[in-house]
Amino acid sequence: MHHFEYRDGVLFAEEVSVTKLTENYGTPLYIYSAATFRRHFKAFDSAFDGLDHLTCFSVKANSNLSVLRMLAEEGAGMDIVSGGELYRALKAGVAPEKIVYSGVGKRESEIRDALSAGILMFNVESVAELIKIDEVAGLKGVKAQVSFRINPDVDPQTHPYISTGMAKNKFGLDIENSFKAYEMAAKLDNIEPVGMDCHIGSQLTSIEPFLEALDKLLDFYEKLKGIGIKIKYLDLGGGLGIPYDEEQPPHPTEFGQALSAKLKGLPLKVILEPGRVIAGNAGIMVTKVLYTKSNPTKNFLIVDAAMNDLVRPSLYGSYHRIGEVEEHGRAPMVYDVVGPICESGDFLARDRELPGIKQGERLVLYSAGAYGFTMSSNYNTRPRACELIVDDDKVIVARKRETYEDIVANEL
Ligand SMILES: *Cc1c(COP(=O)(O)O)cnc(C)c1O
Repeated sequence: MHHFEYRDGVLFAEEVSVTKLTENYGTPLYIYSAATFRRHFKAFDSAFDGLDHLTCFSVKANSNLSVLRMLAEEGAGMDIVSGGELYRALKAGVAPEKIVYSGVGKRESEIRDALSAGILMFNVESVAELIKIDEVAGLKGVKAQVSFRINPDVDPQTHPYISTGMAKNKFGLDIENSFKAYEMAAKLDNIEPVGMDCHIGSQLTSIEPFLEALDKLLDFYEKLKGIGIKIKYLDLGGGLGIPYDEEQPPHPTEFGQALSAKLKGLPLKVILEPGRVIAGNAGIMVTKVLYTKSNPTKNFLIVDAAMNDLVRPSLYGSYHRIGEVEEHGRAPMVYDVVGPICESGDFLARDRELPGIKQGERLVLYSAGAYGFTMSSNYNTRPRACELIVDDDKVIVARKRETYEDIVANEL
């Protein structure tokens, strides 16, 4: 069941015409399908039904409050990477005991806020951070539950900017230093080491790196048992990929079964931190063609969305499938789809074959639900886009389009 589908040549989001939505809310426009969000969450979460587990949605993939609220209602916990994301998760009604806090540079105030909220645990990424958490917890008179983010040194075979579990990456602690960190944590007054954590990268399209990392973690788990450290939580991070183009990532069910087979019978609660696989294909972005132009080598579609709205193509060279909002069936042409920003790196697609497109028509960029709006900015003083959630035939304005006043509100 697909929730972005053509009906008589017009793209629909669930029961609502995308043409109507762009007429009412303008472009660029993010549109999320509530049914798709729910289905993706359930498919992922139920893949681990055989295990004691908690699925924590990775807030940075799509942090709109209405999205978080919707997932929290489905039972999701949240994986946060900043005090801002903690604020959002709590505001969306997520139970603090379902929140895990990852990230390589947590500030003192962020640590304090997370302890005050009573989150489940910190995924600690350095010994210096451990000492800081011990100190802050001591001042508050509480014990902080922690796990260490272990860098298992496996190659996730994804884009270098989103590979996180190799020795050269800034994330986590290598296995040897992790062991020392647990020994130290066990001796600190205000720390309780309760978990082990890893997150090796994003947009992984095969299961092998996950299994390789898990094997290393399970070996390590035995070593910790040997020195009397009892781990309760095993956090396997996120990273499962989605089809943007021709990729064929494993289905969440297959992923869940493969991991569960190794974990069955262990006295561990498994935590998962999926982001992209829940949100990516639950959202689209719609943009209008402002102008067309051609030179001897290129045909350009100059659209009203830009790298400030969707940075993935510029930042990672990512591919987003593009289609027409209303199909016209013209002969195909090869285009560069570019935005108005003053950077040559401002493009949404290059050398893309599309049906012939005319000025004023609207295009849809698929797979924009994750790392789309959340990575957007005000570069070139462009107001950030409006976000809508379509739930059957209902339309929810999840975020109003920014105004110029919004942009300059904090400036002198
Ligand atoms: C970004 C991130 C995730 C989510 O990754 P996806 O590829 O979107 O599933 C999970 N855990 C941590 C620590 C992250 O930084």
